[in-house]
Amino acid sequence: MFCFGCRYDLRSIAASRCPECGRAFDPADARTYSRAVRAEAPRWVLALGLVAAAWPLVTAATFLVTTLAARISLGHCPRPYLDDPRSINSAVVGVLAHAAIVAMIAMLPAALVALCVVAYLGALRRWRPAALVLLVGLAAWAGFVLLNRYDPLRCVDWLFD
Ligand SMILES: [Zn+2]
Repeated sequence: MFCFGCRYDLRSIAASRCPECGRAFDPADARTYSRAVRAEAPRWVLALGLVAAAWPLVTAATFLVTTLAARISLGHCPRPYLDDPRSINSAVVGVLAHAAIVAMIAMLPAALVALCVVAYLGALRRWRPAALVLLVGLAAWAGFVLLNRYDPLRCVDWLFD
């Protein structure tokens, strides 16, 4: 026996009102309460939300890996404007450079997916997982912005020159 409004467990409540949200119910009338336990979000929804939220870090990782592969292929750090990713004679660098660009294009849809998961978890009143997805997303975007700003390996400069 659970509250329709907030899924509060009403089984041990003597009054006819939910102590959590005030919604009235009648233990004798099955139409006034829910039999379903507090709604749980499927695990894959949370997993999807976390991956989508962390996507900017995946994108940053593809930038760094591409730059390291180019470094190995060239024998020195790839220089912006001088070592074009397309002119490096390495299939691996070519594939990685494409993956980096696809990952970056996917950042916006990934952010939308993460926000949808946050809204969905919020609708289920699962505040903690919702806050977790939101925090991971903010941290990942902050990390991505910092990489673009400071770019220690000059990988952003080089990939997008
Ligand atoms: Zn309630």
